[in-house]
Amino acid sequence: MDKKVYKGEEIEIYFDSEKCIHSGVCVKGMPEVFDLSKRPWVNATESPADKIAAHIDTCPSGALTYKLTNKTDKE
Ligand code: SF4
Repeated sequence: MDKKVYKGEEIEIYFDSEKCIHSGVCVKGMPEVFDLSKRPWVNATESPADKIAAHIDTCPSGALTYKLTNKTDKE
């Protein structure tokens, strides 16, 4: 499994490239965090952790998951 982790101040974002179906939901809905033209392409500090978490919940494949590192844990 090729799972990467991107750490922000209050959230850790996990990306499993094998699960991604390239729907583009992440980059279209939150381009300040998910930008394929940048390296790394995920920047976990560009938006509040709870907003990023809510957006990750819309990933249709489950390729993106997260853990809130400040309050309650959720994956
Ligand atoms: S929203 Fe999920 S499935 Fe769609 S491109 Fe992003 S990571 Fe891949």
